[in-house]
Amino acid sequence: MNRFSYARASAVREALEQRRANGSAVFIAGGTNLVDLLREDVARPATLVDINRLPLKSIEATPGGGLKIGALVTNSALAYDETVAARYPLLAEAILAGASAQIRNVATVGGNLLQRTRCYYFYDAGTACNKREPGTGCPAMDGLNRIHAILGASDQCIAVHPSDLCVALAALDARVHVTGLKGTRALSFAEFHRLPGDTPHIDTNLAEGELITAVELPKEGYAAHHAYVKVRDRASYAFALVSAAVGLELDGDTVAGVRCALGGVAHKPWRDPGAEDSLRGKPLNAATAQDFAGRLLHGARGRSGNAFKIELAARVIVRAFDIAAQRSRGEAAS
Ligand SMILES: Cc1cc2nc3c(=O)[nH]c(=O)nc-3n(C[C@H](O)[C@H](O)[C@H](O)COP(=O)(O)OP(=O)(O)OC[C@H]3O[C@@H](n4cnc5c(N)ncnc54)[C@H](O)[C@@H]3O)c2cc1C
Repeated sequence: MNRFSYARASAVREALEQRRANGSAVFIAGGTNLVDLLREDVARPATLVDINRLPLKSIEATPGGGLKIGALVTNSALAYDETVAARYPLLAEAILAGASAQIRNVATVGGNLLQRTRCYYFYDAGTACNKREPGTGCPAMDGLNRIHAILGASDQCIAVHPSDLCVALAALDARVHVTGLKGTRALSFAEFHRLPGDTPHIDTNLAEGELITAVELPKEGYAAHHAYVKVRDRASYAFALVSAAVGLELDGDTVAGVRCALGGVAHKPWRDPGAEDSLRGKPLNAATAQDFAGRLLHGARGRSGNAFKIELAARVIVRAFDIAAQRSRGEAAS
């Protein structure tokens, strides 16, 4: 592990200035991903700026009827918040499908958005990896790629974003509030994470030194008609091979609106608003759900170890629609 110095901030401005003043400094929140990256010699910051004392731990109603969640709210506090559980159960379900209770107790919202891929080669500093060291190559292309991307990959990188929380936030059309020394701004969730292209080492559209301060949810939480379906190699404590977050607005059995984001398939949560529009006004049944899955997965490409994900993703989508539909008719979901 590389040597680093440690600084602690109690105000946002102080944290931003500490980060600027200390060379290759990075923020540390719960540390559940960053400490692993330090241990594996993947991250080599000169300084850690501890942000745990910043006043970013509240969950507040917004004037528009939505919810603003501080970046330091832990995954557990968010999942068990009464308003979230009642109005945004899709979010609570996605969080509780991830990691373990111990990890969720310290992992924060901001850190979850910025967790790095779980690609085996990325964590093995003894191998090439375009994400870790640009220009060195991607052994996953023809190597071990069971957990890798089937959508949006490039010839530089086929890593996936591993978060469950982010899949639900994408489906809910959340916004990410960030602050830098030049001011504050908000990014739509769709523009927050990037596809790898020829810059796979850059995961997001955050500018250098910017701090995530909050995530904002719009008013609509799809509480009545939602599902988060996650398929993984173990029943718990495992990242998604494929997951789907679905929110439906139904008029009887007819789709009035749909949101569907996939996890485990791309470098960012995968959505296609055009495919969602195409389902509006149609009856919700296995055939229309299957048709939607085909559109959302259009262009999917499998490799030696992960081609199974294409069929698996289609089945996960259909299953998620089915659960959401059962809920909409007042039946218990399984
Ligand atoms: C064994 C294990 C299993 C897991 N399983 C799952 C799972 O199934 N599903 C899932 O979604 N996640 C899973 N996780 C990941 C876990 O959810 C993340 O590690 C966690 O959410 C990261 O939050 P943190 O606060 O600990 O971030 P840290 O580790 O402190 O930071 C992560 C990154 O975010 C940056 N950062 C943190 N906060 C901010 C901020 N406010 N502004 C700017 N930058 C910031 C840090 O600089 C760092 O680069 C698992 C983790 C482990 C170790």
